[in-house]
Amino acid sequence: MSDLPVKEQPNLRPICPHCDQPIDCLLSKKMKSNFLSAKVVYCCPSCKKVLGFTDRKSWLAG
Ligand SMILES: [Zn+2]
Repeated sequence: MSDLPVKEQPNLRPICPHCDQPIDCLLSKKMKSNFLSAKVVYCCPSCKKVLGFTDRKSWLAG
């Protein structure tokens, strides 16, 4: 994966794999946070299904 070239596509409209709707934005919700990390879940605005998570270290995110 990391060997593949990445082609930037500013006009690309991602499609939700769950409901096949174009995604213009993501819904996010902070699931759990403490002084070390904050878990954020990202959802499709159309069907609310989960598209991804991040686990941010608060000391890195500032
Ligand atoms: Zn969806």
